[in-house]
Amino acid sequence: MHEAHVTIIGGGLAGAEAAYQAARRGAAVRLYEIRPEGQTPMHSTGLLAELTGSGSFGLDQLDRATGLLIAELRRLDSLIIQAADATRVIDSSLLTVDRQAFAEHVTERIQAHPHIELCRQEAAPVSPQGPVVIATGPMTSSPLARSLFGITGHEYRFFYGATEPLIDAASIHDDVTWLQARFDQDQPLYRNCALDEGQLERFLAVLAEAGSGLPEGASIHNVFSQYLPLEVTAAQGDRPLTAGPLNPAGLSRPGSEQPPSAVCQLCADNAEHSVYRAVNMHTGLSPPDQQRLFSNISGLERAEFVRYGALHRALYINSPALLQPTYELSRRPGLLLAGAIAGLQGYAAVTASGWLAGVNAARCLQRKQLVELPAESLCGAMTRSLLTADPETFRPLAVNFGMLPEEADTSGGSKEQRRAARAQNALDALDRLIEENDLHPAEL
Ligand SMILES: Cc1cc2nc3c(=O)[nH]c(=O)nc-3n(C[C@H](O)[C@H](O)[C@H](O)COP(=O)(O)OP(=O)(O)OC[C@H]3O[C@@H](n4cnc5c(N)ncnc54)[C@H](O)[C@@H]3O)c2cc1C
Repeated sequence: MHEAHVTIIGGGLAGAEAAYQAARRGAAVRLYEIRPEGQTPMHSTGLLAELTGSGSFGLDQLDRATGLLIAELRRLDSLIIQAADATRVIDSSLLTVDRQAFAEHVTERIQAHPHIELCRQEAAPVSPQGPVVIATGPMTSSPLARSLFGITGHEYRFFYGATEPLIDAASIHDDVTWLQARFDQDQPLYRNCALDEGQLERFLAVLAEAGSGLPEGASIHNVFSQYLPLEVTAAQGDRPLTAGPLNPAGLSRPGSEQPPSAVCQLCADNAEHSVYRAVNMHTGLSPPDQQRLFSNISGLERAEFVRYGALHRALYINSPALLQPTYELSRRPGLLLAGAIAGLQGYAAVTASGWLAGVNAARCLQRKQLVELPAESLCGAMTRSLLTADPETFRPLAVNFGMLPEEADTSGGSKEQRRAARAQNALDALDRLIEENDLHPAEL
């Protein structure tokens, strides 16, 4: 590819979205992905958009923050959300996907795109020619992180987070597990595994013996709350696991009068239901300790792990001090950042930033004015929250409804009606963004 082009570094959720959106707007795109030539500590395949945490994008309901963000991305024709919809696993309020089928879908669409050249190699340092989007995620390779440090003059930051184990369904003792939604209400329908008092005691004893597992000098304050390892919560001691990942409330074992002391929930991780994810059971314990720990849960006594949970150190930059609302670096026009490296968290949120970075990289190449996401939309509100955070204390952000601007009129309707009106307002604002800036995809 010798003509002027956009460079995208990182073929994860944000990078794949950025590449697709830039290419759809007529830009030639070169997408660099380090895998499978190199590897990162979190990824295990060579596929683009590999989901390294759970297989869930969150609640797909308009009155929830993740649901509104997903709806906004559908309105924006996001490649990632198209792939998620095409590979959805369980028909519930959660958008949960078959992780292998999802990543294959994205990889095939990118490889088949006539305007995208996929280069399977590490990109570093940052190329000075043409617009560049850096979307290298929490596991950004060291040479690129150093190069970014050279450009921004800011040391990158980091937090710790753990992943949940994946378990082979064939090793689960089905007779003692049961399918139930919490309080039998509109909650995700999971497979439940109980712990009685004795099992819970032994479970907690394994955690107590293992310790927090955090590296020396790190504390709970360095851990992102949504990926908090069981062992850190247990060592902290101020919130019992039975009020968190092992919460038994609203769950009752069929045929048993005795309420369970604790419950571990399992969510199907693929269409065949041959792999299950242990929901919110994030852990970085050693594999033998994870085996010992889970053997105290009814049905998981002989669990075989398809993937053990693991603790990771995740990089991000100080976005409030460095980024513009266009996702362009203030110091270096034409260099954009997107995804977890920019301090966003959550699959839908990183995808939204990739969408804008891709659109703006194409506009940069075409010498058009860069655009911003509308303040009324949650993806726009999320960007504003990111950039107006205090640079001194900045920590990664997860989206919430409270990020949306105050309602002009709070007098009429119920909370549900007002949320529905705000959601409609957000989607209308995105339609206007597309119309007013002529952001319709170019014909190929
Ligand atoms: C421990 C942990 C658990 C998480 N769990 C969840 C979860 O369950 N649900 C959720 O919604 N979010 C989760 N997240 C947050 C976040 O949504 C994900 O990390 C998400 O995958 C980030 O997307 P991304 O596109 O920014 O990065 P990634 O998906 O990691 O993509 C970055 C890509 O860049 C590539 N790369 C890196 N360096 C280079 C280089 N120099 N050259 C070329 N390619 C390079 C990598 O191989 C990778 O493919 C988790 C984060 C952490 C740290």
